[in-house]
Amino acid sequence: MRSFAVATSQRTYEAVIARGVLARAADYFPAGCGRVFVVTERRIWDLHGAKLAPALPGGSHRVLFFPGGEAHKRLASVEALASEMALNGGDRSSLVVGFGGGVVNDVAGFLASIFMRGVQVLQAPTTLLAQVDAAIGGKTGVDLACGKNLVGSFHQPVAVLIDPGVLETLPEREYRAGLFEVLKTGIIRSPELFAMLSDRRARIMAQDAGVLDGVIAESVRIKAEVVSADERESGLRAILNFGHTIGHALEAETGYTRFLHGEAVAFGMEAATRLAERIGRLPAVDAGRILAAIEAYGPIPPLDGVSADALIARMIMDKKTLHGRVRFVLPEAIGRVAVVPGIDEKLVRQAIQDSLR
Ligand code: NAD
Repeated sequence: MRSFAVATSQRTYEAVIARGVLARAADYFPAGCGRVFVVTERRIWDLHGAKLAPALPGGSHRVLFFPGGEAHKRLASVEALASEMALNGGDRSSLVVGFGGGVVNDVAGFLASIFMRGVQVLQAPTTLLAQVDAAIGGKTGVDLACGKNLVGSFHQPVAVLIDPGVLETLPEREYRAGLFEVLKTGIIRSPELFAMLSDRRARIMAQDAGVLDGVIAESVRIKAEVVSADERESGLRAILNFGHTIGHALEAETGYTRFLHGEAVAFGMEAATRLAERIGRLPAVDAGRILAAIEAYGPIPPLDGVSADALIARMIMDKKTLHGRVRFVLPEAIGRVAVVPGIDEKLVRQAIQDSLR
């Protein structure tokens, strides 16, 4: 078992990586915890509910199903779930357990943050992306018709319980999308993680526990470290956005349907890497290694019909744009990035165009 402390203003909690940990989830329930509401998708519950069930208090828990998918990461889902909680004995002592991918973790976390002005949440992520990223750090929220993650809150969980065994049923494309986020983590902060991904691709793709659990643990360690240093993204946490500035633009431009989040981030990392090389911040040899690693975990779906101009326009509208200025997280070496504002738009366009080919 590996465990990393996430230290935040709300609380310090553990992110635990261990096969079988879900059965011991009750060890992490807060003292005096009342009724437990598991928020999940029917399919995830059918596949893996038996792993969590031993931890649930007989007679005082309820499993709440929600259709899942980005299309249901909406206020309407939160309202429906909150009503179910209220009608089934939910009160201020209730605990929400988010059991699913990033969509479930975001919705369950947001629900917990506003139900009766806030109850506790425990996150049990079941996709690789959620295990290494979405479930840790307390960012919760839902989408509006006009944009992603526009309504939300910071609500830290009481614990994050990660069982890599649940990934066996994850579709391969979802798994690779999660690996792109892991790759991001290596590029921004861990040459060791980057090397593991580059050197042990076959064992990682085969979900060999001897390698995969270490890869997840190193990613979680870094996410925990970054969140602990900068919970509200006023400084260091911004480095987690490597690949996201252009990636978000690609997702928005294609209506969130053509690319998985991790795939869009992979494209964004590719373009940002080219940009960093072009402006002389990243040595060509490192750029080559990053691009090769992205390709090895690809392919990214075809990009036809996407234009650099459209992506630039989207970036300017992004909520992370500060006073209309786009800031890029750019690699300077494998394991080190910098936040760079004010880059000439022509250079950005060129880097995107090179990546669209
Ligand atoms: P997701 O939650 O939609 O899950 C992807 C698919 O995998 C779904 O169809 C789901 O039913 C299925 N699934 C989940 N676990 C499974 C399992 N073990 N076996 C088989 N199928 C399984 O998507 P995601 O990629 O996990 O998360 C994406 C979401 O996370 C986005 O909404 C994004 O905004 C959010 N996110 C949030 C943060 C944050 O800090 N809060 C960070 C990154 C991403």
